Amino acid sequence: MAALHGKTAIVSGASSGIGEATAQALLAEGAQVAAGSRHPDRLPDGVLAHALDVTDPESCECFVAAAVDGLGGLDILVNNAGMALGRDPFWESSEEDERAVLETNVNGLIRMTRLCLPHIRDGGHIVNMGSIAGRQAYEKAALYVTAKFAVRGFTYALREDLLGRPIRLTTVDPGLVETNFSAVRFRGDEEAARKVYENVEALTPEDIAECVVFALTRPPHVNVDELVVKALAQSSAARIVRNA
Ligand code: NAP
Repeated sequence: MAALHGKTAIVSGASSGIGEATAQALLAEGAQVAAGSRHPDRLPDGVLAHALDVTDPESCECFVAAAVDGLGGLDILVNNAGMALGRDPFWESSEEDERAVLETNVNGLIRMTRLCLPHIRDGGHIVNMGSIAGRQAYEKAALYVTAKFAVRGFTYALREDLLGRPIRLTTVDPGLVETNFSAVRFRGDEEAARKVYENVEALTPEDIAECVVFALTRPPHVNVDELVVKALAQSSAARIVRNA
């Protein structure tokens, strides 16, 4: 039998990249999946698709109510929605970008967790999509680094609060994954985005989805606190060996 048969899951930011691959992997393991993003028409086939903007409290409330209703209860929350803006020194930062990056990656993730937690059944599991940016700083990424360090801090603080309750909690911290992430970061500059993945074998969204499934499918007494996954050709966000 599929490992997640009978389980229900929410995946935020499932219209592309890691979230899309994760939603598909959970479906393949037999889970029922509700997925959200600002472009619900881009969500994968087979999910309960709803509009979700994690930066908007009302959107989150409506999404969680509709998802829990449609699923008939909740076992798994994958907080995946996230993004970075720009690769500039901090002094080039703007109020608007700071708010967008922190609202999406930090407040959005915390908000979704707060709204979903009351619905998560015993035996449930929360997976936060962190990053190696949340473990080691790199240049020209101050806000994204700040946001992902916050995700890591929140994950461990929540782990303390959940201790003694039958709800597991994992942060998955990927390195270089080839997705739409860089196109968003470089505000649609496809050439700049392409260069990020040039001459290097990056991770695929499916590689990360497999890690999520791994954490979810351990025996109930096993909590995988964190999974750090890098491309073989990188040792940090800053050090990547490229061919040619
Ligand atoms: P992606 O392909 O750009 O996907 C990002 C997803 O987040 C999209 O589905 C997007 O959907 C959604 N999203 C963005 N803002 C949102 C909002 N306000 N409300 C709801 N959904 C929102 O990038 P990705 O690489 O898969 O990123 C997924 C996660 O992995 C992020 O948390 C990212 O920080 C993390 N990560 C990525 C890498 C990497 O190298 N790619 C490495 C480490 C960690 P809509 O635009 O349709 O709303």
